[in-house]
Amino acid sequence: MSGGDNVNKLVNLFEGEGAVCDEFGCAIPGAEDGQGALAEKASRRAILPGATIGVLGGGQLGRMLAHAGNRLGYRFVTLDPTPDSPCGQTAAQIVAAYDDREAARELAQRSDVITYEFENVDAGVAEMLERESYVPQGSKLLYTTQHRLREKQAVEAAGAQVAPYAEIESLAGLQEAAARLGLPAVLKTATGGYDGKGQWVLRSEDELATAWGEASRAGTQLVLEKFIVFDKEISVIAARSPSGEVKTFPPAENIHVHNILHLSIVPARISDKVRAEAEKLAVSIAETLGAVGLIAVEMFLTADGELYVNELAPRPHNSGHYTMEACRTSQFEQHVRAICDLPLGDPSLLTPVVMANILGEHMEPLLEWMGEKDAAAEKLGVEVKVHLYGKAEAKHKRKMGHLNVLALNVDAALEWIAQSKIWRV
Ligand code: AMP
Repeated sequence: MSGGDNVNKLVNLFEGEGAVCDEFGCAIPGAEDGQGALAEKASRRAILPGATIGVLGGGQLGRMLAHAGNRLGYRFVTLDPTPDSPCGQTAAQIVAAYDDREAARELAQRSDVITYEFENVDAGVAEMLERESYVPQGSKLLYTTQHRLREKQAVEAAGAQVAPYAEIESLAGLQEAAARLGLPAVLKTATGGYDGKGQWVLRSEDELATAWGEASRAGTQLVLEKFIVFDKEISVIAARSPSGEVKTFPPAENIHVHNILHLSIVPARISDKVRAEAEKLAVSIAETLGAVGLIAVEMFLTADGELYVNELAPRPHNSGHYTMEACRTSQFEQHVRAICDLPLGDPSLLTPVVMANILGEHMEPLLEWMGEKDAAAEKLGVEVKVHLYGKAEAKHKRKMGHLNVLALNVDAALEWIAQSKIWRV
């Protein structure tokens, strides 16, 4: 039986035979149901456990998604060019380039539903997958978030603020925009940038020509943003299902080192008013963009309490890894629930937590620490949960894993991190 037959059987079971959902969203064949509820279900497309979820991309996000989905009874198949990829170690894998149409077609045939774990999905592949399989996230959201200018317009349409910006097409245009927005400012490529790549911080007029020379070679549109002097960077992850149910995870306070996320602190050290406002913005963005699955909203918080949305990511996000032990439902389980149109789980926080990333250079001290009894953890009353992604080579700056440091308060978790030797390199 092909993946498609499989899902048709499940959907028929769900829609056609008077099946109703139990509290976990699983079909109970033959249960009594009213006409209205049946009509509502007929418009839904619930993918039930037993189905196969196809994941475009085989990195750590796919791996953790498969772990969470396996637990719910789903099967996984991933497409990734690297054999034995982090996700491929826990799911079936098609080894092929991301833009290989034949391989994408095979992924479609083997899956009942398709999701992606990175946003730079080739447009042609996304369109083909939508045609030949079921991609509840759709390609529209990808199209929006793949391009900084489109993304900013969408954020503004949702009623949220972004840093004042201008589209840049020439050196003269850059000079004019820099004079208008004021320096410092940040020149960014509209596509393809991540972890600070494709960005130039401009502090004086002398730097404009050099930055233009480098940036214009990137071969994509450019955008200049006013530099926001922020007090904190925070993020909120929202989940939305095709039925329109929306839930948000508690905001994380994020600390970056060399533009790479180092820590996520939860609860974020922000006022209740800002917390409520940040969650409201994330819900509004998820709803206005018609997101399905997770959408991570990264924001700057200024000293006077203003929030500016910096970036969106329509997928599980590094700043949501803390949810794995610290929330009633992890971001990965929530993504599976959302794309499968199951009722969303409770995202409430169970414990204060600090998530700390492990990069290639941290692997040696981490492994050394793992073999020893940790007196500092005992003294501070913290519990450290280790997540490693199974990557073969511990390259410098490469994300190899993360730790979730669970504690009675975030100060104790931060103190354990400060005392630890893991991040001294
Ligand atoms: P991004 O790739 O847009 O997420 O930017 C990476 C990091 O650069 C952010 O997390 C901020 O720390 C910093 N950054 C980016 N844009 C701005 C801005 N307009 N103002 C201040 N800092 C920024």
